[in-house]
Amino acid sequence: MLKRLVLTTALAVAAVAGVAADVHAQGGRGGAPAGPQKLTAIRAGRLVDPETGNAAANQIILVEGERIKEIGANVAIPAGAEVIDLSRLTVVPGFVDTHTHLAMTYKEVPENNIYYYTYVADSTPLRAIQAASSAMQLLGSGFTVACDTGNNGNYADTALRQAIEQGWIPGPTIIPSGLIISTTGGQFTPTPEMYKGHNIVYPEYLEANSRDEIVKAVRENLLFGAKAIKICLDCKPWGYSVDDIKLFIAEAAKGGAKVHAHVQTRDGAQRAIDAGLHVIVHGQQITPEQHAQMAQKTIYLASTDTPFTPYHGSAQGQKRAADQLKSAWEKGVPVTFSTDMDYWSENFKNDKGEWMNRGELTINFLLTWKAAGIPAKDTLKALTTNGYKAADVYKDQRGPIKVGYFADMVAVEGDPLTNIDAVRNVQFVMKNGEVFKRNGVITVDKLLHPGPVNGFRRR
Ligand SMILES: [Zn+2]
Repeated sequence: MLKRLVLTTALAVAAVAGVAADVHAQGGRGGAPAGPQKLTAIRAGRLVDPETGNAAANQIILVEGERIKEIGANVAIPAGAEVIDLSRLTVVPGFVDTHTHLAMTYKEVPENNIYYYTYVADSTPLRAIQAASSAMQLLGSGFTVACDTGNNGNYADTALRQAIEQGWIPGPTIIPSGLIISTTGGQFTPTPEMYKGHNIVYPEYLEANSRDEIVKAVRENLLFGAKAIKICLDCKPWGYSVDDIKLFIAEAAKGGAKVHAHVQTRDGAQRAIDAGLHVIVHGQQITPEQHAQMAQKTIYLASTDTPFTPYHGSAQGQKRAADQLKSAWEKGVPVTFSTDMDYWSENFKNDKGEWMNRGELTINFLLTWKAAGIPAKDTLKALTTNGYKAADVYKDQRGPIKVGYFADMVAVEGDPLTNIDAVRNVQFVMKNGEVFKRNGVITVDKLLHPGPVNGFRRR
């Protein structure tokens, strides 16, 4: 009993300390040890700016700590700086998957690719550990940002972001949405027993029908660490109205978050466009006329373009996705690279019979972009610039290779402005100034830490 009392008191003190920590969290690094910052000078054979489609030869990128300090052909390399020679390679900013679910992996066996069963069988802790592995696999393929938009159990996505930000493990910058907010039922079709007796929709979906419930749901997600808000706009015939969507946008904005919406109908797409949504996800039914409206309003498209491969998909499915993507691109929609790559099968092997990892499976969505006939430089822009804007990371000075920005970059052989397949062969990855991959090999020995080395308040 006494033990219990002591424990209760300790928890109460911890809770108060937690509140105090939150108050000070606005200030920045939150307890990270200060000291001299590591200097790294990168010699880039070519440095690509995907925004303009230009490349500059023989550039030196000086990185101090986590950020880029100087860029140019004649940058003086300070004594003591580590020099990384990428003079044979092309340096590009890191890639973005604008729509994925890192803590979801549904399978053919045993659940017949029905993620409703995955959710019942795999606990949130197991899924969080899968997410940590998936995140490193994505970073290895050059993805330095990933929008992790729901279907992640009970906030495995915001925990993943926190673990990476605090320095426990390396990984992309995660833009987590927390729970997907939806009208009654989410994307599930549960039985009355499971719905009424077991509240089975939660936590895979957070239901909100009325305006009060919408406000509360958005605030809960923001409270638990969401950096974007994901809604199921028209998953059921009783989806959200234009006024509902505008309320989501306004409430999310209070927490600095943008709204991404699952959109599967033409009518739903029109409501999303009329409300001025930030990112439309999927959008298979969008007409060319609606694409023109999206372009005019700068609404990003994350169309999750599943390719036809020897291990997954269908020729018909890829054609549908490619036609849709091509229409959007032709109308000037800011298209992003997005995948929904959240499944696994025993077929996921390359032609040598080796397992493909989640990063390789993700970048292989390029097949659809090539089938759509989208030029390499525009595909690279979708993978980078448009992705940073959709993920809304510019405000945190993240994305492009620019002075003052976080040092996130990738190096590849060849020229991705003319041959997009060059981005498949990532030789070098730097994230926040730390080298994660060098000479094509991932090295995490210096990037795994026994504590929150970047500061425990970093979220
Ligand atoms: Zn999805």
